[in-house]
Amino acid sequence: MKEIILCKFGEIALKGLNKSNFESTLVKNVRRRLKTIGNFELEKAQSTLYVTPADENADIDLALDSLKKVFGIVKLYKALELDKSMDAILNDSLDYLSDALSDASTFKVTAKRADKRFNVTSPQICIDLGERILQTFPHLSVDVHEPDVTVSVEIREKSAFVNAMKFDGAGGLPVGTGGRALLLLSGGIDSPVAGYMMAKRGVHIQAVHFEAPPYTSERARLKVEKLAEKISLYCGDVYFYCVPFTEIQLAIRDNCPNELFTVIMRRLMMEITQRIADEQDCSAIITGESLGQVASQTMSAVVCTDAACRMPVFRPCIGLDKSEIVKIANRIDTFDTSVLPYEDCCTVFTPKHPKTRPTVAEVEAAQNAFDFEPLIAKAIENISGKMIRCGENSVNL
Ligand code: ATP
Ligand code: MG
Repeated sequence: MKEIILCKFGEIALKGLNKSNFESTLVKNVRRRLKTIGNFELEKAQSTLYVTPADENADIDLALDSLKKVFGIVKLYKALELDKSMDAILNDSLDYLSDALSDASTFKVTAKRADKRFNVTSPQICIDLGERILQTFPHLSVDVHEPDVTVSVEIREKSAFVNAMKFDGAGGLPVGTGGRALLLLSGGIDSPVAGYMMAKRGVHIQAVHFEAPPYTSERARLKVEKLAEKISLYCGDVYFYCVPFTEIQLAIRDNCPNELFTVIMRRLMMEITQRIADEQDCSAIITGESLGQVASQTMSAVVCTDAACRMPVFRPCIGLDKSEIVKIANRIDTFDTSVLPYEDCCTVFTPKHPKTRPTVAEVEAAQNAFDFEPLIAKAIENISGKMIRCGENSVNL
């Protein structure tokens, strides 16, 4: 007897002709995710993926934990694989079910025969197992409408499965089915959440981070790499680009009006990011901006930033309050890393009184007064990068 995991697909079951594409991407993502955990066999049937340990080292609970973070799966069940006989279903499942049933007051049984040759009908399986459960756990009663626990029996080609332990999946769409984008990843709370939210809609993500050594430290960069590692549990492998930004920041400071420093800096970040995006076949940029949160995130500032962009900029946090973003950051376990006190390049030369209502015309005029092109080219030449692999704990802060 062995325990397996059933993963139920979500919205992707509805995707018509694209369904097989969505499903095969999801299976690929699951396979990649499980690689670091152990050997598992995967089998897909009717919008369900059966994940079976292939040897004794394959830890089913670790697998379950990691599959809860794979987008495209809405529900997961732990199930017991049994011999395909009523005898096994009625006798061998009770011990297993006791975990889920001992704290419950009501239950119901559902049954499904994928193999119609099995000689007991589904309603009869429900009646027989239901009776057996009532005998064994006398504190329980049946409630077919709103049971605390639903015990499901599935009769499949080779075996029968019984499950009663149901878990929420991450929902969303499989990463890789929604295009490719570059995430502007700072060390803050918002941008990792933004990356998570777009990956949830199937977007494949690479991260770009701007640093300003020696004003920002090695540790500050490691913190951002750690954040990339944390979101990779949801997003899959994340390529991490680090752009040296000091010279550009100094040039803005020395050549542009102080109150426009931040907005010009953001426009130059966008310019560099777009060039990486072109190289990497990415078609959008993602940021963690939230409207009105700081001076660089007023509507006028966003308009000025976007005037420097040739590609769409997705800002999934734009309408969220800080407390709502923090809630998600806690759920995806990035918050504690985000609040570590290392400086970000954005805060190094920030003016005391940034203009909250800059116009595109004045920002463009101010930026065009200096030729940033050679510095942009140099920064791009000196980008360093590394692959952050999902499930590998390689960044030590
Ligand atoms: P966060 O919490 O994500 O740092 P924030 O509230 O601190 O956001 P800003 O510093 O204004 O806001 O940055 C807004 C967005 O710009 C960030 O969410 C991020 O997407 C991007 N960004 C800021 N600093 C950097 C950086 N050093 N490298 C890459 N992207 C950055
Ligand atoms: Mg920030």
